[in-house]
Amino acid sequence: MNYCSQCGAPVSLKIPVDDNRERYVCDHCGYVHYQNPNNVCGAILTLEDRILLCKRAIEPRYGKWTLPAGFMENNETVAEAAAREAMEEANARAGPLTLFGIFSMPYISQVYLMFHGELASPEVSAGQESLEVGLFRRDEIPWDELAFPVVDHSLRLYLEHGAGKVHHAWFSRGPDRQVELHIID
Ligand SMILES: [Zn+2]
Repeated sequence: MNYCSQCGAPVSLKIPVDDNRERYVCDHCGYVHYQNPNNVCGAILTLEDRILLCKRAIEPRYGKWTLPAGFMENNETVAEAAAREAMEEANARAGPLTLFGIFSMPYISQVYLMFHGELASPEVSAGQESLEVGLFRRDEIPWDELAFPVVDHSLRLYLEHGAGKVHHAWFSRGPDRQVELHIID
């Protein structure tokens, strides 16, 4: 960040009075720009023994397969966000959603809230952010072509345990950029 969102003057990275970490503070009006993690809401949507996956038409991980998920918007609930992403990415109508997992990624300041639900309709098709979408049986999942570790982990948990329990884990990324999974419960 270079310029103040309030007045356009340059900002400096410094610790504000009564704070304990660096923030971008406006040199002119003193406005403090707090930056906080983003929620990413997504869903494992199933149709009997098949799981909906989307092939990404956007960076990062263009061409890789993912669960429908995306950044939460203002003025919506986490479940509404997950259902909206399923509609946007796969034209998929989600049935009632239950919380499946909470996964923190402090290295990119993101928190994933993953849901599970059944598809309300078998009709799915690629939305703007997808090259194609598909319903995959257990032995058809493209494990080597998944976009993100959290997608891999969510699918493994679902296939092993099914729905019904809320999983809690976090991921770290080492200096070699290798992502490591830490299961909490
Ligand atoms: Zn300012």
